[in-house]
Amino acid sequence: MVYKFADIVINRPIERPFTYSIPESLKEDIKIGSIVEAPFGNKVVTGYVVGLSDKCGIEKIKPINSIVDKTLCVDSKMLELTKWISTYYYSSWGEAISAAIPGVLKKGASGKRQSPALSKERAGQRKEKRDEEEKEFEFIDGSDKHLTPNEKQKLALDCIMDSINARIHRVFLLHGVTGSGKTEVYLQSIARALELGLSSIILVPEISLTPQTVARFKARFGDKIAVLHSRLLGSKRISEWRRINSGAAQIVIGARSAVFAPLKNLGLIVVDEEHEASYKQEDVPRYNARDVAIKRAELSKAIVILGSATPSLESFYAAKNGKYILIELPERVDSRLLPAVDIVDMREEMTRAKKIPIFSQKLREWIEKDIAEKKQVILFLNRRGFSTFINCRRCGYVIKCKRCSVTLTYHFDKKKLVCHHCNFNMAPPEICPECNASYLKYWGLGTEKVESEAHRLFPQASIARMDTDATHKRGAHNKILSKFKDAHLDILIGTQMIAKGLDFPKVTLVGVISADTALNLPDFRSAERTFNLLTQVAGRAGRSDLGGRVIMQSYTPQHYSIQAAKTHDYNTFYDKEISLRKELYLPPFCHMVSLTLRGRKEERVFKASDNLKNNLEKESKAKNIEILGPAPAPISKMKGMYRWSIFLRSETSEAITSILKKALNKNKSSGIIITVDVDPS
Ligand code: ADP
Ligand code: ZN
Repeated sequence: MVYKFADIVINRPIERPFTYSIPESLKEDIKIGSIVEAPFGNKVVTGYVVGLSDKCGIEKIKPINSIVDKTLCVDSKMLELTKWISTYYYSSWGEAISAAIPGVLKKGASGKRQSPALSKERAGQRKEKRDEEEKEFEFIDGSDKHLTPNEKQKLALDCIMDSINARIHRVFLLHGVTGSGKTEVYLQSIARALELGLSSIILVPEISLTPQTVARFKARFGDKIAVLHSRLLGSKRISEWRRINSGAAQIVIGARSAVFAPLKNLGLIVVDEEHEASYKQEDVPRYNARDVAIKRAELSKAIVILGSATPSLESFYAAKNGKYILIELPERVDSRLLPAVDIVDMREEMTRAKKIPIFSQKLREWIEKDIAEKKQVILFLNRRGFSTFINCRRCGYVIKCKRCSVTLTYHFDKKKLVCHHCNFNMAPPEICPECNASYLKYWGLGTEKVESEAHRLFPQASIARMDTDATHKRGAHNKILSKFKDAHLDILIGTQMIAKGLDFPKVTLVGVISADTALNLPDFRSAERTFNLLTQVAGRAGRSDLGGRVIMQSYTPQHYSIQAAKTHDYNTFYDKEISLRKELYLPPFCHMVSLTLRGRKEERVFKASDNLKNNLEKESKAKNIEILGPAPAPISKMKGMYRWSIFLRSETSEAITSILKKALNKNKSSGIIITVDVDPS
């Protein structure tokens, strides 16, 4: 069938498709799902064909320019999935499709127009970068063998395989402490799916932070696996995508966007560390890859394995209510005990030392002992920089970013004050900008200061720091880990970059400098985040016969999330947290949608927020939707824009998004940008 007209959606916040005519030369090749270039205003944009027809009511119709690549096409299942994303997460269909397709594919022909000299030089650079990329996982041993599953793993595998065999969509929640054999269950499930001719996706939170996991999958599946990670350059990304599209690679491992890998015959999606916030995309469409994975699996009659030592409250609640199937792996494979955790009450420490110490006496003594015995130490603090705020001792003035309502962090390396939101930086002033006194005091604690204090206290130790400041150069991350692995380092200091997945047998001591950092954030998930992070960090210690110990320093040692982390007790934490969530009507008992209004004039932002609230109120009553706010956003000014938020909650997010359209259309005020975030994280 040859058609004359095509309906096209584009990567803009416009819901309706646009109709174009199909030039004679493209009629043979154009299909639903074709990626095309077409004129839009005075520009040429990439569009996706979502409909074909013979009739068109429009008089002046423009033709499509070209098809980007005749061999590539968004298949019908992917169109259905992206349609769902656009509805659920409140974006346009074009924006959702665009998120599912690698950027380099969209540029199409324009990327090829380069002068020969230039492209030669670029090719040189590209090769260099590619070599570094290949090195990315070099410090890991390459051999991996199929293990005989133990009793618990066998039960899990049987349960999972029954569903794969029967091609019934199911979601399994695999709950097991680190070292309980979850990854082995993923590997064997994937292997068996492969035997049935079914393909698999493994999602990991951040691929550069989980190199050891990735290496195990590569070692087991060799050429059948494609790795999609954020540092992949355009050309490599496109070749991996083609390998997947053609069926040459039947297993894909990658971060968030790998959920869109164009695999055929999908049988299984694994979401490792399913509770991780990094599965949530911060830009439009603001999807959660875990939830998209479940939807994709449902459309493909595939199964999902959500794995975690600390499942999200949402997933564990769903499992307890029979919506997901709960599989527990309660013990470590080698029956090695989890490390002993000591909590140091820093309030007592402060009274004793008559100042605010960075290292408690206990932590100091254990570090000295372990490095003397040539064991290794990890020190964790989830804050970068040296001092996190500076104020004047005379007038109290606090130095803040002019464009964001946050304090500037002092970075000793660069001798600069830096905004962690917009990267604004300046030389630290000598005198108070407000009252000219020369009593500026540096407060707060970041990884840089921990590093400098560690050098002072343990002069004989070799120490490295790993955070986004220390690793923004390509390859730096890998270098530090290699050095640590080869035991050239005694102490590794880092942010949450070092909390995940690392498996270094010589690490016998983990020190958590401040267990409370995340607790004081204005976020209903702060207790959950604290528990997850502490549990994860603690898991870095005691991974061999050398044993292990964790020391957590805290100013709120009685808090249930810290107490539960001490005893590695997920169930107790869950029971306490779920009853609070119920009482306060928070997820998983409701769904939330957050609206953020931004603008340069505070008065206008506030007025628009108030207006929007009034419009929403009219619609919300009948639908049982609760409106909270407007209130200033937690960061009330960012990059020069004032920010106000409104929260909506209800039993389903569909109830909320269904009333949004009308209210937002009525609410168009100039100079105000509104973002919608469904199930914010
Ligand atoms: P998790 O993913 O829960 O942290 P892993 O699957 O990585 O656990 O297993 C932890 C360690 O135990 C790994 O070194 C793995 O090779 C080993 N292991 C897992 N399952 C078995 C098994 N059935 N027999 C022997 N060793 C196993
Ligand atoms: Zn700023």
